[in-house]
Amino acid sequence: MKQRVIILGSTGSVGCNTLDVLLPMRDRWDVVGLAAGSQVETLAAQANEWRPSAVALASETQASALDSALAYAPTAFFGENALLDLVASVDCDCVVSAVVGVGGLSATLHAVELGRRVALANKEALVIAGSLLMQLAATNSATIVPVDSEHSAIFQAMRAGRTSDVRRVCLTASGGPFRTHSLEAMERVTVDEALCHPTWNMGPKITIDSATMMNKALEIVEARWLFDLSPDQIGVVVHPESIIHSLVEFCDGSWIAQMSTPDMRTPIQYALTYPERCACPAKPLDLARINQLSLFPPDMERFPALHLGDEVARRGGTSGAVLNAANETAVSLFMRGDIRFTDIAQYTQRVLRQHEFNASPTLDDLLAADRWARKEVARCIAC
Ligand code: MG
Repeated sequence: MKQRVIILGSTGSVGCNTLDVLLPMRDRWDVVGLAAGSQVETLAAQANEWRPSAVALASETQASALDSALAYAPTAFFGENALLDLVASVDCDCVVSAVVGVGGLSATLHAVELGRRVALANKEALVIAGSLLMQLAATNSATIVPVDSEHSAIFQAMRAGRTSDVRRVCLTASGGPFRTHSLEAMERVTVDEALCHPTWNMGPKITIDSATMMNKALEIVEARWLFDLSPDQIGVVVHPESIIHSLVEFCDGSWIAQMSTPDMRTPIQYALTYPERCACPAKPLDLARINQLSLFPPDMERFPALHLGDEVARRGGTSGAVLNAANETAVSLFMRGDIRFTDIAQYTQRVLRQHEFNASPTLDDLLAADRWARKEVARCIAC
């Protein structure tokens, strides 16, 4: 029987790579749902090729544009709840959750409630609501397989031993384009410079997050929930070549790493086919041609965002929702030219420290904390 998959965020970087991975496996996979935010033309082209029974578009104003671009008549959902409606009404085996930011949260939670396998690229879902998401997954026997390359590496490396024998994990970070910049030089960084990642080709928001290393902060929180680790068990090491995607240390002192070329298609495919493996369109790794693999500790002074990851992994509660929302807002203000590059971590930290902490929030509390943090960043900048 064919596996049926829904892709949330199909027009983004991970979404497009997912379809690329599925192409040679078309005899075994059916795309039954595609969802996007506002990119009508790409969504229509994908739907016309893959013929899912349903599509979803978050932008309501572009409903008629999508209708006229479609060469057939799938069920179509529009508006704020379109992604959730798609997940709720189309039966499937796997949901690829690849929306960037808080917009993917409710549909991801619902996929978990329905007990689907979730290939999770929307790291924000775990940062905002990790405790809730993992509890729901356990209650509904949903399997969450990470798509984030570091977490995919840890997920794979953990299969080398018992979970109880894991001493710690180490997330690798490329260090981004400003790895060797001074603090003064970082203050003058332009949007175009921040959007130029040395090793990975990704969407704009995550590329800026990589440059501030906020991406690694979010990934510390993501690892804390995904693998049920204590924050003391999670380390970060800078590895500019982006070949070792992360490592796990077991109690006997053995380190297990996962290595491959920096290509998101490898972790995406593994999340789809796990526990099976099959040939992947990503370029194979030629280890003999790599002169060196370097690993060194991150500079916490030049990349203060890293402290925030550790702080939020320790505190839990509403702090993840505030961290994520404050950062998302600060990144978009930086991209509009309203604040400096170094302000992103500063404003995020300020808002995080000011927030009224709630240790055991409901989903509504988390969404309220998210809304508060967005307003608070704007207020801080105005004053
Ligand atoms: Mg990553």
